[in-house]
Amino acid sequence: MEQNSLREKAAALAGKLTLEEKIGMIHGARLFQTKGVDRLGIPPLVMSDGPMGVRQEFEPASWEAINLSDDYVTYLPCNSALASTWNRKLAFEMGSVLGEEARGRGKDVILAPGINIKRSPLCGRNFEYFSEDPYLTGQLAASFIQGVQQWDVAACVKHFAANNQETQRLWVDVEVDEKALRRIYLPAFYECLTKGGSLSVMGAYNLLFGEHCCQNKRLLNEILRREWGYDGVVISDWSAVHDTRSAAESGLDIEMAVTGNFDEYFMADPLKRTVEQGEISESVIDEKVIHILMLMMRLHMLDGKRKAGSYNTAEHRSIALEAARESVVLLKNEDHRLPLCAEKTKSVLIVGDNGERLHANGGGSAEIKALYEISPLMGMRTLLGGNTKVDFVRGYCSKRQEQSGSWQETSLENGGGRTQDSSEADTRERAALRQEAVRKAADYDEVIFIGGLNHDQDSEGNDRRDMKLPYGQDLLIGELLAVRPDTVIVMVGGSPVEMGAWVERAKAVVWSWYAGMEGGRALAEVLFGRVNPSGRLPETFYKTHMDCSAHCVGEFPGGKTVAYREGIFVGYRYNETFGVEPQFCFGHGLSYTEFSYGKAQLGEEDGALCVRCGVTNTGQQEGAEVIQVYRMPRDAGKGRPAKELAGFEKVWLAPGESRTVTVMLDGEREDDLFGIGHSVEDIRIIL
Ligand code: BGC
Repeated sequence: MEQNSLREKAAALAGKLTLEEKIGMIHGARLFQTKGVDRLGIPPLVMSDGPMGVRQEFEPASWEAINLSDDYVTYLPCNSALASTWNRKLAFEMGSVLGEEARGRGKDVILAPGINIKRSPLCGRNFEYFSEDPYLTGQLAASFIQGVQQWDVAACVKHFAANNQETQRLWVDVEVDEKALRRIYLPAFYECLTKGGSLSVMGAYNLLFGEHCCQNKRLLNEILRREWGYDGVVISDWSAVHDTRSAAESGLDIEMAVTGNFDEYFMADPLKRTVEQGEISESVIDEKVIHILMLMMRLHMLDGKRKAGSYNTAEHRSIALEAARESVVLLKNEDHRLPLCAEKTKSVLIVGDNGERLHANGGGSAEIKALYEISPLMGMRTLLGGNTKVDFVRGYCSKRQEQSGSWQETSLENGGGRTQDSSEADTRERAALRQEAVRKAADYDEVIFIGGLNHDQDSEGNDRRDMKLPYGQDLLIGELLAVRPDTVIVMVGGSPVEMGAWVERAKAVVWSWYAGMEGGRALAEVLFGRVNPSGRLPETFYKTHMDCSAHCVGEFPGGKTVAYREGIFVGYRYNETFGVEPQFCFGHGLSYTEFSYGKAQLGEEDGALCVRCGVTNTGQQEGAEVIQVYRMPRDAGKGRPAKELAGFEKVWLAPGESRTVTVMLDGEREDDLFGIGHSVEDIRIIL
């Protein structure tokens, strides 16, 4: 429907509503729901988290889980995993799974995807986010949103804007210069709201330009509404509103919060009173209601023509598996240590807590009540079958923290009401587990270490203090490599860890994100060569967090304010420009096969710039290559990064197969050099 007539229709309907009815529509009347208007057939707006699947059901006014038996769902790989596939089509398909499941569960708005830029590797919610690069984030998230919304469910892209840390997340005032805001922190939102067409957006907790984002006139009124012309629904993060007048007069449409005192919300009774007293014009409320009604019309919530959706389908599980497969990143593979050969392997020892740990039910509001979750150990056992002995030893002990929804009651406190692992001491228990693992390691054909992080570190409400591996894993890996130099190292996590203590000695290092319900199966398939890894890092894996610009140039996490002094030099933009070598660079990821590039040419397609380049699979097996094109300005360093991702395309090639790949480029600048290759560091051809 034409935008104007849609708006007129919504305005006509809004004109029939009383002040009380309108107020009911613009604030939470349950923890995840607003009020509808029965007499006019306007339903409430029903929302749910979150990025990796539809969240379980809670009591209307408390964070007690209802414990239903029918709210288990498909558990998808996290957004970092999706980003490491560099696959737009898969992003669309994953979005479609989430959208259909949300519809199946009766939701109108799914509070996803999270797209904040990974400014520091220590941000506790990085696993929910895509990348340090705005272009990669915007491309994949926009496709994801289109997938969600084809099911008549609104995506709610979050958290707008510059919400890049958990420490003091409600109160930190972000100081970022205009250029960095426009080039790094806003473009992915712009892409998601325009090309992606996200029907809603969630305002962030933090302050920007000295004002909370959810009542921020510069951000919401000037940039979002006026400049971008956005007429979708702006929803506050839960308890991110702090003042009635500011919120009412800002571009915010719906106030949500974590407490059950719904009538006392800033945009509930207090706003109604202020309007009745003539202090705030009713027209500001009309505008919000019009946005909400337009969203309802766009979702066919009012005309009876809405799509139905299913959840927990076999097709959804197979997309979760495919995404998990493509997200695994082979970081190092000296002497072709991988893949392992299932037929020749009579015994495997899996060492490490993450070998059998399940991650779905953790991390904060992104927690998932998964229908099931295949651990790496189960993935290995189901793949290898009865002829191979697969044993497990924990190797290190991690604190097991059961999470429940009631976590969210205290989520506004710093640290989210939870504590991080504080027992770094090499306890007796830890030593015993380590010794057991090291003793056994000699007795098996293959030893696979599966460690890394879990949601005690990667979690909402907390930032990590550094990138060190928790639970004494460095010591354990070192001792394992001493007795078994061929130990395969697998890291599971949502953000990079320091690897310096052992990475030179390890022959094979594999990265697995929180990869959803089929993650363990996908990992086993990669390790045993059933799947050729094709993931590429969507972020820099630094040697230590001090090599990241947020820490060595800017500040993180700051105090009352946090100064983004590094400006646009975020992630690889800093490391590449100033020669700071990472452990593994942005875009890095190996394959079991090899690729060669032909001559690249700059061209045009549909009036837009593109690069065309021949790519050949020169190895022995089918595999996927991600062709990455970087803009490399001649005036780098003078306010411009040495390299910036300008385009990418993933292509599958059989052994010996060649193809000319067209990579569409971001932007219109023709005066830059372009580099093309496997990763930001490995630029093979300059056009
Ligand atoms: C999070 C949001 C989430 C909301 C509702 C907040 O704590 O920041 O991402 O959607 O809770 O659970």
